[in-house]
Amino acid sequence: MTNVMPVIFFGHGNPMNALLDNTYTEGWASIGRSLLRPKAVLCVSAHWYSPGTAVTAMPNPRTIHDFGGFPRELHQVQYPAPGSPELAERVSHLLSPLAVELDQSWGLDHGTWSVLRHVFPAADIPVAQLSIDETRAPEFHYEVGKRLSPLRDEGVLIVGSGNLVHNLHTYAWGRREVEPFDWAVRFEQLARELLLKGDDASLVGYESLGPDALLAAPTPDHYLPLLYVIGLRRAGEAVTFPVEGFDGGSISMLCVSIG
Ligand code: ZN
Repeated sequence: MTNVMPVIFFGHGNPMNALLDNTYTEGWASIGRSLLRPKAVLCVSAHWYSPGTAVTAMPNPRTIHDFGGFPRELHQVQYPAPGSPELAERVSHLLSPLAVELDQSWGLDHGTWSVLRHVFPAADIPVAQLSIDETRAPEFHYEVGKRLSPLRDEGVLIVGSGNLVHNLHTYAWGRREVEPFDWAVRFEQLARELLLKGDDASLVGYESLGPDALLAAPTPDHYLPLLYVIGLRRAGEAVTFPVEGFDGGSISMLCVSIG
């Protein structure tokens, strides 16, 4: 009997979570301890949102500090996991005839390492990133997810890293104990119900879910990684929410685990 790897969407939130020890990061670490050791990780990060589809293919991806205004110690974080040129080739093959660039210049951005630093602290599991083609409609991302499905049988942990609700315009920087906005709570609740029901069509068509959705995902980048994850769900697989909470009033830290 083969082990099928689960698929996980992480709400990564504030980059400072990389350094912090809080309920979110404890939840991520606990997920890491519960998993069978994957052969490799393929991460779809909100922070590699650019034209075209690319997969990191270098043997040693650099740690990218793709943010400004954070303390020096965050800029000093390194996540020295090896890459996986082999996985990059496999992804390119699975997505063919879609043109997939075997990238040699990106690396691991904070959408990936701020979470993996807690999930796999030893940084000894190879990691590749798949970019999000910013020119494509939501349906495309869902379909790309589906085509990666064989990787789940090959020991690869596929991860989406974004946030189900992500509105930085209303985010309470530096303030503590902020109540979440009612629209943020409502949209997250709706998404949970759709996830539990397996109503992928509504999740893919989130832009039609009304004003709460427009506030929750004012730009697509942090929402779209979820669509890769739900595209990988197989018949009868359970959905759970191993980490939850709101940060700064307008960021949902919900983690969605499938399988
Ligand atoms: Zn982010």
